[in-house]
Amino acid sequence: MKTPLNVYWVRRDLRLHDNPALSAIAQESKNFAVIFIFEPYMYLAKPQYNFGYPQRQFLIRAIPRFAKKFQYFHLIFDYPVKTFSRLAEKYDLTVYVNEDIHPDFYKQLNKLKRAGIKIKLFEDQLTVPKSLLTKDSQIYTVFTPFKKAAWRYLIEAKTASVASFSTMPIPELVSQSIPAVENEIANRVSNRRVFLFEGTELDLDEILGFAPNFDDWYFSEEEAIQIAVSFIEKKLANYHTNRNMLALDATSKLSLALAWGLISARTLKNLILDKLGLRYVEPDDKNNLGPVTFLSELIWREFYKYLLYHFPWLLNLEFQEKKRSILWVKGDVARRRFIAWIKAETGYDLVDAAMMQIAKTGYMHNRARMLVASILTKNLGVDWRAGQEYFRASLIDLDEASNNGGWQWSASVGADPKPIRIFNPYLQADKFDPTGLYRKKWLSETAHSWRNNESHVRDIEPIISHLDARQEALKRYGLFDD
Ligand SMILES: Cc1cc2nc3c(=O)[nH]c(=O)nc-3n(C[C@H](O)[C@H](O)[C@H](O)COP(=O)(O)OP(=O)(O)OC[C@H]3O[C@@H](n4cnc5c(N)ncnc54)[C@H](O)[C@@H]3O)c2cc1C
Repeated sequence: MKTPLNVYWVRRDLRLHDNPALSAIAQESKNFAVIFIFEPYMYLAKPQYNFGYPQRQFLIRAIPRFAKKFQYFHLIFDYPVKTFSRLAEKYDLTVYVNEDIHPDFYKQLNKLKRAGIKIKLFEDQLTVPKSLLTKDSQIYTVFTPFKKAAWRYLIEAKTASVASFSTMPIPELVSQSIPAVENEIANRVSNRRVFLFEGTELDLDEILGFAPNFDDWYFSEEEAIQIAVSFIEKKLANYHTNRNMLALDATSKLSLALAWGLISARTLKNLILDKLGLRYVEPDDKNNLGPVTFLSELIWREFYKYLLYHFPWLLNLEFQEKKRSILWVKGDVARRRFIAWIKAETGYDLVDAAMMQIAKTGYMHNRARMLVASILTKNLGVDWRAGQEYFRASLIDLDEASNNGGWQWSASVGADPKPIRIFNPYLQADKFDPTGLYRKKWLSETAHSWRNNESHVRDIEPIISHLDARQEALKRYGLFDD
């Protein structure tokens, strides 16, 4: 008889609090092992791999902080199926893991199942049931009805508690385990910042000439909770009015925490209800507009995960069939425009400011994400998949489902009933950066910097005038005949 061995496989759930897989394994085993696997696609940085430099940099700092919470923590650089198959030869192995809503995770899971590995899978990232269907038993494809149905699942969701536990080393893995300290991880992880555009490699070090700085970010569960508490205390009440104002620091910046599971959406929801002194809040509660607007944003996150779970092909294909034949610009023109967009050289001030924000910090305000995505696809005619790829390579808070949903929505090819939305970069600037402070801050970092402190003057013209671009976009989308 083989000796039983229970392993908690850490993925995007770097926390102790409300961690369903950890809670279950701690209840069911006296002693268990903890493993984080740095898979080749994560550390090798080949241009075709969808794991960006910011995510590698995040893990270099976050893994040591998380590992400290356990008596013993295995950090392995290998393929999961190889690691677990070797253990299953010797042990009666059961792997406990929180479900990661990503097509790559399900591929891994199938490989493990084919190799005969016993898996215990726990729902975590998605609080709303995946099986939620419309009255006609269809998958929800429009946000508003989804939100109506999903709301109570989020608001009423329970959290999982974790009892005290003890973790142990697995003798067969000890020699293969890497010390969970920053230098050791950094030495094994590529620094390259490359990705594919029309089948050829683009290198961000060459294009931008500088790397982002992540020193202002946070990397642990404790910091994430502190940020959540402080946001709820100071900014939540006015979130509904301030969240779109680019120069105000009015949003939570919790996207990074949610993407890597430093905090769960359920805990965040509970912190908000505690603050309100309520056990339930209605989505249209007029007395709590800030909190319900914020909770509604958490439902957007759920919506995109739900869609990606049901339609994994969305990562590469337009949700709307009729939008799959748009003729995006190609070749040299596409490359020139795409690179100008990356380098903050489109000539639209607000777009360039936002592109500098992402290049320098790995983050961009949501309002600006919608705008730059609209400009790349509508004004510059570049395929949304290229933008999705650049964001993958650049965002520290990358969440595949939200990134994909955001790109498809902004390119008007996604789960959105409107035929086309064309953002006017000048009107957006007037409305959401009326003082010009956001532009001033980020444009001062660009090559074509702000020349005059009083007015919005730069020595660069738009690649294409917004009016011409608008007409071209309507034609490209088959919505206008001249
Ligand atoms: C083109 C594009 C790409 C995007 N890529 C990502 C991404 O990779 N990762 C990511 O987390 N979000 C992404 N978003 C959504 C949104 O821009 C970010 O969640 C938000 O800017 C993060 O900042 P915050 O935490 O301060 O947001 P807050 O305003 O404080 O919102 C709270 C939380 O709600 C969720 N949320 C808010 N807005 C959205 C939204 N529109 N869609 C889905 N969830 C939302 C996030 O989890 C966020 O942390 C993208 C949006 C667009 C238009």
